[in-house]
Amino acid sequence: MSSARKPDWLKMRPPSGREFTDIRETLRDRNLHTVCEEANCPNLGECWSGGAATGAGSGGTATFMLMGDRCSRGCNFCDVETGGMEALDPDEPKNVAEAVAEIGLDYVVLTSVDRDDLPDQGAGHFAKTIREIKAQHPGILVEVLIPDFQGEERLVEKIVDADPDVIAHNVETVERLQFPVRDRRAGYEQSLSVLEQVDRESDIYTKTSIMLGHGEYDHEVYQTLADCRDRGVDIVTLGQYLRPSRTHLEVERYDHPDKYETWRRVAEEELGYLYCASGPMVRSSYKAGELFVDAVLR
Ligand code: SF4
Ligand code: SF4
Repeated sequence: MSSARKPDWLKMRPPSGREFTDIRETLRDRNLHTVCEEANCPNLGECWSGGAATGAGSGGTATFMLMGDRCSRGCNFCDVETGGMEALDPDEPKNVAEAVAEIGLDYVVLTSVDRDDLPDQGAGHFAKTIREIKAQHPGILVEVLIPDFQGEERLVEKIVDADPDVIAHNVETVERLQFPVRDRRAGYEQSLSVLEQVDRESDIYTKTSIMLGHGEYDHEVYQTLADCRDRGVDIVTLGQYLRPSRTHLEVERYDHPDKYETWRRVAEEELGYLYCASGPMVRSSYKAGELFVDAVLR
């Protein structure tokens, strides 16, 4: 089946403006990576130029990608390069904390590539970065989007112990489509277990994200929302899958923005999520700070 035709509501605003160039310079100077750039996020122009995803006080936001720009896995929807893993940069936790201050963020999102090649799969490095940011900026809100750590509970515990404000882990798609969408080392039940563990072991808010457009049926999306809520997930985002290149999975369907609004209502009003960000251009970190402060802290 050929890729569906991209509708008008998915037109991207190209990145521009002073904040965009300032953030890019700060990141380059410190050899830091963002998922915004590596994953070709469609919101890059909006987030970096106008503060779409942060709380008050910042000129824009970026989601930092820790542990390099190459992943040990190869998901069929993701634009991050696979293989050729490099050694960790021991200065990265400090550099990220300093960059957060320089850019002026008050809500920061951290994520990482998967590092199945490392003995602790990078959990220690992740935790160190959270602690460094919290130590340098008491009061800052930190959201982390973590890998599944192959379901190893002691590694998830390391993240919980570092005490971020939100721990996100994405189920990405409905159970039936986990493969071919995700790398074979990932899995629906494994991801749900990670989220459940965080909920069981802490008061930290939990969050997940689902892509639409891989050929899922409505009843499967509903079931995924229900399964995640059953495992204690507080926050969910839904967004349209966009094909990064011709070597990636084709888009099976583009849902109208009204459909996303319906899912938002189902998630919040029927299933009891604290909030659901849902729209064609929504990504896991879209308006993360703004929505968290509005829905949870106010
Ligand atoms: Fe970056 Fe997230 Fe905004 Fe995308 S939605 S540009 S990943 S902060
Ligand atoms: Fe991309 Fe998959 Fe690696 Fe995450 S685990 S960075 S989605 S290839």
